Parts: sequence; C-alpha cells; structure tokens
Amino acid sequence: MLTRLSELTRRIRWFGLLSLILQAGLVLTVCAAVTVSNYLPQALFHGQYVERWSDSTRVIQITMVPPKNIPGWRPGVTTLVQRAFNEWQTVLQGRIRFAYTYDPTKTDVTVRWRNQSKGMEIGNQSFRSTDKIFTDMDLEIAMNDPHGHAFSDAALYYIALHEIGHLLGIKGHSTDPRDIMYASIQPNVPRLSARDIATVRALYQQPANITNPPGIHLMAYREYEYYSNLGNSAFQSKNFQDALEYYGKALRYFPSDKDTIYRVGTSAYNLHMWDVAAANLQVVASTPSRYRNDAQFYLGNALMAAGATAIKNGDKNGGLQKLAAAKRQFDLVQQQPQSSMVQKQQAALCVAQIGKIYSQFH
Ligand SMILES: [Zn+2]
Repeated sequence: MLTRLSELTRRIRWFGLLSLILQAGLVLTVCAAVTVSNYLPQALFHGQYVERWSDSTRVIQITMVPPKNIPGWRPGVTTLVQRAFNEWQTVLQGRIRFAYTYDPTKTDVTVRWRNQSKGMEIGNQSFRSTDKIFTDMDLEIAMNDPHGHAFSDAALYYIALHEIGHLLGIKGHSTDPRDIMYASIQPNVPRLSARDIATVRALYQQPANITNPPGIHLMAYREYEYYSNLGNSAFQSKNFQDALEYYGKALRYFPSDKDTIYRVGTSAYNLHMWDVAAANLQVVASTPSRYRNDAQFYLGNALMAAGATAIKNGDKNGGLQKLAAAKRQFDLVQQQPQSSMVQKQQAALCVAQIGKIYSQFH
C-alpha cells in the first residue's frame, strides 16, 4: 500500500488537463485496493437468493457427536472444530453466536465425523429451511482422505472452516484460491481471507427472507432485488455499462434506495460519465446512509474530472465552478473522522492539485 501511495505521489504532477482525468482514474484504483471486495453473487442460493439463519436465531446450538471407531480420530479434533466456529463468530461481530449442548431438543446443528471422504467430498451439510431461513442442519467432516490417510490438524481446521461457511449460508464457492470458500482444499490458507469475511458480513446485511421496506410493494421489491443482484454481478465483473442499466431498472421499483443510487454513481464514474456520476453521488453524499462517506470522496473525484473536462472543452468558468465544488467535497472528506487514512491523503493531494489549476487560470 505504501509503495503504491508514494508512486502515486510521484506521478501526481501537473502534466496538463488530460493527465488530471487519468489521475482521477488512479485515485479510483488506489481506493478500490482498500475496499475489500466480496464474492456474494457466487455465495447466494441460485445466484440470487439469500438463505441463512434468522436474525432472531442469535445463538446456534451445536451438538458434536463423538465418533465410534473412526481411525485417525484424536481428542483434539473437537476443540479444533470449536476454534473454527469461533473464527466465524468473531468476524460476524455478534450477529450469530455458537453454543454447545448435549440436549437433542435444543440442537440446531449436529456435527458428525466420518471415516473417509466420499469421492472428493471432504465434508458436507444437509439442512432444512423454511422460507429461506435455516431451521436445522447436519454437518459431516471426513477424518481421512480417500486413500485412508488421516487429515492433519491443519487440513481438518481448513475443512471445518469451509463447511461452517456453507453452514452460515455461503452457498457457492469463491473463484479465488486464497479464500477459504474456494471449491477445493488449499492447505496454505490457514484462516478466513478478507473476502471471506466481507462475504459473510454482506450476507448477514441482506434481509434474511424477502421482506419489502415500508412503502415498497412486495412484488416491486422482488423486481428491485432481481435487477439489483444482476447489477451487482455486472459491477463485480467490471461490466459497468450493464451494471448501469440493471441499476436503472432496479431504481424504477425502489426509487429512493440509496445503495442503488450510489452504485449508479460509481458505475457512471468507472465509465467516465462524470456528470451522471456527480449527479447521483450528490444525492448520496448529502443525506445519511452507509455509503455517504464514500460518496463524498467519489463525488469530489467526479467533480474534479468533470471540471477538468469542461476546461479542456473551452468552458473555463463552468470548469472552475466544478473544481470549486470538488474542493468543498475533499475538504469535507478531510474533516470527517469516518474517512479512511487513504481517503484523507488522497483528498489532500486532490486539493493541492485543484489549487495548482486555479493558479494557472487566475
Ligand atoms: Zn464447499
């Protein structure tokens, strides 16, 4: 991160208006590097439905059934699986807790071990759910590979982490081998990756079942969700043109949704449609919502690029006005305690840059 920042500082010199637009792109790259992405589209049921534990579950009661006559079994295995449950519990920040019970009437999850993996499957779960809310689940973990060799503690810990990921509602697999939720075992991945963490948190931010917000008809909300998910997939694969279209459709069903307006703004930003980006980001930047801070930062960048473009096209006054508006956003970003260090540093660089352009024109 530090190397990239100093490299950026070196590159931020005044080479004319065109390079300014390029630099706006660079700012985005640096920002994207600190915003951890997730693989939620792959994690959803049928690629679009959230199926997870209910918010009212809070505590998932686990029963571990001690195995009988399984070669390779050792007493430490139970502790190891508990440690894996703890790792997920920690990143869920209190949304879901795990407790252990021997009372079958209180059990939500039963953990069992089996001798060997069936084919290539080293663990599996079977679950029951009502209205896309889990009611109870069985988890089975193999102790030995298909050749009968006992899995090491490290391998078992990995398997447990992966299966618990599914247990929490991550349906599919990540396509990145650095994630625990990658489809095949990666013994070099010792713990949850930042993307695993971002995915499970995103999953538990989604409504547990389809519930429509006040004022939005359920049918409309389902349509909104459908297009919004398509938009998110397109955005994640950097297909910003499609993302913009899907988000536009989603907004027809839920026009006040700040998340989608923010995504319209960032999609337009990536397409270098500076004015469209600025208009949408302005909406999010001026009212409280979870993306307000980021919206202010991107709005500054969009206004800066819009101003530079206007000046380049001969509209000096219009351009300078946009640069002044950009400076106001960057000042805001620098003043707010919620802004990240990188955002503050970037904002300071941009303010200095705007100052230089001003001095050229006055
Ligand atoms: Zn899996």
